[in-house]
Amino acid sequence: MEQDKQIKVFISHRESICGECGENLGNKAWIILREDKGALCLSCADLDHLVFLPSGDAALTRRAKKLSTLSAVVLEWSRARKRYERQGLLVEEQALQAAEAECLQDSEARERRRLRQAERRSALDQEYVNRFAQRIRELFPQCPEGVEQAIAEHACLKYSGRVGRTAAAKALDEEAVRLAVIAHIRHAATNYDELLALGYDRWEARAAVADEVKAILFQWEFSQ
Ligand SMILES: [Zn+2]
Repeated sequence: MEQDKQIKVFISHRESICGECGENLGNKAWIILREDKGALCLSCADLDHLVFLPSGDAALTRRAKKLSTLSAVVLEWSRARKRYERQGLLVEEQALQAAEAECLQDSEARERRRLRQAERRSALDQEYVNRFAQRIRELFPQCPEGVEQAIAEHACLKYSGRVGRTAAAKALDEEAVRLAVIAHIRHAATNYDELLALGYDRWEARAAVADEVKAILFQWEFSQ
C-alpha cells in the first residue's frame, strides 16, 4: 500500500471492457488501470460519486482538491504531443461547492456552477429518480429525510445513457437498491473515502468499514 498516491483516471480511446462488472464501456471510457484486472469502470472503482472539474481555473482546482477527501486526476493521451495530458480533477461534489463558495465573488465561477447544475439536471430522468427514491423509502423507512433523493439521483446518473431501459428497471430491484444505499453510507458516513485516498485496496477498505455500514443500514431498515 502506497501512501497518498494520487489516483489516476484515464480517458481511454480504445474499446474498453470493465475487468470487474464486464460492461462494455465503449471507446471513450473513463477508467482506472489495475495490474490484476486491467481497466475498471469508475463505478467499480468506487469513484463515480465524484464530479469532474475541468482544468482551467487554478484557484478553484487547488481549493477543491484541498477540500476533497478523495480526488483523482483525469488524464487523456494526446496523439499530437505523444504524452498524457491533464484534463482536470474528479472531486467530491460538496468539496467543489465549498471551493466555489470561496470563489463566489468571481462571477465566472458562478456561471460555471450554473452550467454544471443545468447539465446535471438535464441528465436526470425525474420520473426514474422519484421511483428509485420511493423504493428506498419502502425498504429503508428510517433513512433520513432527503437522503433517499440524493441516492436516487446518483443511481439515475449512473444508469442514464450508458445502459438501456431494462438495466434501469433491473436497478429498481431490492438488491440493487440496497447496494446503492450501502455505497452511499460508505462514502457519506464512514472514512471509506479517506482509506481509498490513502491507497487502500477497495476490498480492504470495505472490510474496514463493514461493521459501521451494517449498523447504519440496520438502523435505517428497522429502528423506529
Ligand atoms: Zn465496472
